[in-house]
Amino acid sequence: MTRTSFAAATALALAVAALAQQPAKLFDGNAWWAHIKFLADDKLEGRETGSQGLRAAEAYVVDQLTKAGLQPAGSNGFYQPVKFISRQIIEDKSSVALVHNGKTEALSFSEDAFFNTRVDLAQEEITAPLVFTGYGLKIPEKGHDDLAGFDLKGKIVVFLVGSPEQIPTALSSHYQTPGERWKPLKEAGALGVISIPNPASMDIPWSRISLNRNHASMELVGAEFNETPGLKLALTFNPAQAEKLFAGSGHTFAEIAVLGKDRKLLPHFPLAVSLKAQAALKTGDVESANVVAKLPGSDPQLKQEYVALSAHVDHIGVGQPVNGDRIYNGALDNGSGTAALIELAASFKTHPEKLRRSLLFVFVCAEEKGLLGSKYFATHPTVPVKSIVADVNIDMFLPIVPLQVLKVQGLAESDLGDRAREAAQAYGIRIQPDPEPLRNSFIRSDQYSFVRHGIPAVKLDTGFDPGTPEQKIFKDWLTNRYHAPSDDLSQPVNLDTAALYEEITRHLLVSVANADARPQWKPDSFFRRYATGND
Ligand SMILES: [Zn+2]
Repeated sequence: MTRTSFAAATALALAVAALAQQPAKLFDGNAWWAHIKFLADDKLEGRETGSQGLRAAEAYVVDQLTKAGLQPAGSNGFYQPVKFISRQIIEDKSSVALVHNGKTEALSFSEDAFFNTRVDLAQEEITAPLVFTGYGLKIPEKGHDDLAGFDLKGKIVVFLVGSPEQIPTALSSHYQTPGERWKPLKEAGALGVISIPNPASMDIPWSRISLNRNHASMELVGAEFNETPGLKLALTFNPAQAEKLFAGSGHTFAEIAVLGKDRKLLPHFPLAVSLKAQAALKTGDVESANVVAKLPGSDPQLKQEYVALSAHVDHIGVGQPVNGDRIYNGALDNGSGTAALIELAASFKTHPEKLRRSLLFVFVCAEEKGLLGSKYFATHPTVPVKSIVADVNIDMFLPIVPLQVLKVQGLAESDLGDRAREAAQAYGIRIQPDPEPLRNSFIRSDQYSFVRHGIPAVKLDTGFDPGTPEQKIFKDWLTNRYHAPSDDLSQPVNLDTAALYEEITRHLLVSVANADARPQWKPDSFFRRYATGND
């Protein structure tokens, strides 16, 4: 045998081995994109929660699920109705000012700071001193306490979004949710918060955030859903104007931002300015729905258990125009995840698979309002909560580069992360934990609602290796298209990546549905407490 023919024979043997390993390809990306064409059409007007556009999108989803032969699993057929109250600031009746040495400086809502209406703001005039508390976090598990040594009674707490480097990613995300952050502040008697976005981790530039500051926010109806009781004032402050807060304090925001970029510990000190604010709100009632379907399993016992696959259908609707376009289509956020769920559901009809456990397809509303549809579903599930063994969430998985590495949110928290790794490896794809911990991704989509009810969960995204050209492609996408009207049908997407992503997700679902044991939290996972009820 010559060298050449030996090499050729080896190559052939390897190719055959590779073919044998690669499970059949069920997806090509085209049907996936066709669903997005419907969901992100201008006619659906950006699928705002409570809008006719979202109703049309959900009717389309129900139609597709019916065609795929799935069974309804909502509380009203496929639907689970959800009620909200909406809040909107009336700017000409509201004001914010800084008071320094008896002088009052009015702030601009567009340039300096705006009210966060996800909070049930007090509608009386508030004047209070300010304290800078670093990241404003109290994390007992890691002995970290930004609040120690301060009298916060009647004060407004100013903090930089972020966390110190010794706090693991998922834990730091958890403690930065509005509810968890507020608990120790409330106990200390604080009455308000001013958050300064970390310039090192802002997905969207201030100009675009500020543009839609008066868009209605929503909260679930029911006191049990209010995570920030007693919080009277909440403002988001433009980091480019934040020196105004630090004037006379002996510190500068520039110094804080440098430390915050590298997740270094931050100093804590009282500020020399106080805040005077008055918020006027307009409220309203909103009704929307989640859509839930099931594919029953075949095992007499295990079919009582469900592997959930979730995605939000809603987006942010019609807003302030950017380049003359007012419709925020949400093609990838999250037309892409909705379409993937539809495709995965359909694949079990075209390519039936014997599944021991049942699959539950959960399409939620109001993710963009703060994970509210999934929060409602996880609190009032349409199947027993203990029967949901796992959640695989798909939100904006960004198939905008060739798929080489898959980012797994929640990778280290449960053995569902190990199963995700195996599923990816079956297709020759590497996996990685979150390379950008400052972005707090673990709490920023619907998997977190399941986690809070004890259900192991992961979210899979197209990944990139730090320092590669792909990193810039993702960064540019966030800066220019994320929550902008240009997340629409005219953008480039990689259909091969979408198809491979669907293959891997299907492989993961089948593996969890057929495993002897249901997924388990890792013994050292912080989130395990929500499964055992010891929170
Ligand atoms: Zn979004």
